[in-house]
Amino acid sequence: MADWVEVGIALGANLGDRSANLRFGLARLAPTVRVTKLSPLYESAPVGVTDQPAFHNAVCLARTGLEPLQLLDFLKEIEHAAGRRPGRRWGPRLLDLDILFFGDRVIEWGRLTVPHPRIRERGFVLRPLADLDPTRRLPGWTEDVQTALAAIDTSDLVAVAGPEWGAKAGED
Ligand code: ATP
Ligand code: CA
Ligand code: CA
Repeated sequence: MADWVEVGIALGANLGDRSANLRFGLARLAPTVRVTKLSPLYESAPVGVTDQPAFHNAVCLARTGLEPLQLLDFLKEIEHAAGRRPGRRWGPRLLDLDILFFGDRVIEWGRLTVPHPRIRERGFVLRPLADLDPTRRLPGWTEDVQTALAAIDTSDLVAVAGPEWGAKAGED
């Protein structure tokens, strides 16, 4: 196993009990991926494929001893355990877990691009990431997270709950 490294993970869901699905994902991360900080919960309008329900989104910072592809496979297992099955890209899903960054690594492999290539376009990622660490500069970036956030329109984002959402059970 590699040394423990800090990673950022984006959580999203727009089917079923959305926040319960995100909590399921969080619970399954431990102990292999140890969450250190959890963002507030946001609701966002779907992008790309717009004829689908709104998403719930959050970001967590975590530490793990997994290698990058091991982490990707681990996250896919959790998505599967949440009931997600392959569907159209950017389509509705019970749970989506994306690797935002992996320590200071810059990765462009067939199955994995890190930092995640679409962070800058996405308020539902930048806003919760800025809540956790506004001055973070991701590997390969020239600006920090709060600067990237200030450059985009986030008017579709609604804060649904504070970071305590991760501990609550049974409500959407
Ligand atoms: P997007 O990547 O734009 O957020 P998506 O999350 O809807 O789209 P998925 O269908 O969940 O896309 O995943 C498609 C593939 O993206 C995965 O099978 C995985 O191999 C690949 N992938 C590349 N980079 C990453 C990353 N940083 N985190 C998660 N998956 C990634
Ligand atoms: Ca995604
Ligand atoms: Ca994904």
